[in-house]
Amino acid sequence: MPCLSFTEKKIFKPLIERKKLQTIRAVNGDKPRIIKGDIVKVFWNQRSSNKFYCKKCSSPFKNTLISGSRCEFCGSDEFINKVLGKVKITDVREIWMKKVKTEGRKQTEDFRFIIKDKYGSFNMAQVEQLAIDDGFETSYDMFEFFDTNYDLRKAKRFAIYNFQWM
Ligand SMILES: [Zn+2]
Repeated sequence: MPCLSFTEKKIFKPLIERKKLQTIRAVNGDKPRIIKGDIVKVFWNQRSSNKFYCKKCSSPFKNTLISGSRCEFCGSDEFINKVLGKVKITDVREIWMKKVKTEGRKQTEDFRFIIKDKYGSFNMAQVEQLAIDDGFETSYDMFEFFDTNYDLRKAKRFAIYNFQWM
């Protein structure tokens, strides 16, 4: 079964509340690695050796979870298993993201971001909606995340996976 792992704290809450219904992933081969109809296992921080995480602040819980256990960071007594559940992929769309320097400003390092699919560039409303559907508060947060992780100075290919929780 394919897996999806999440580590970005900004989307932790919508993810564990199962309100997150979309993820955007880099496409490295010829095709997106997950296709429509696939059942996918969803993890918080799959590669970590920790099994449980604080439900409130997403910090790992390193000890054995027993009644009365508390998060060492925030004191919460609610934890989640790193295996968050399964989702069914309902749609896959390919996009490209790119960061371009704003024209006409020589002294400052101002950039804007472009998202395109096979039909053309997304308008501002579509970009904002995509960010919100992905669990980010703004498109700025979304672009900052992808630029940090993938360096968007060169156009980079991604797949938008839409899913429903099972
Ligand atoms: Zn905590």
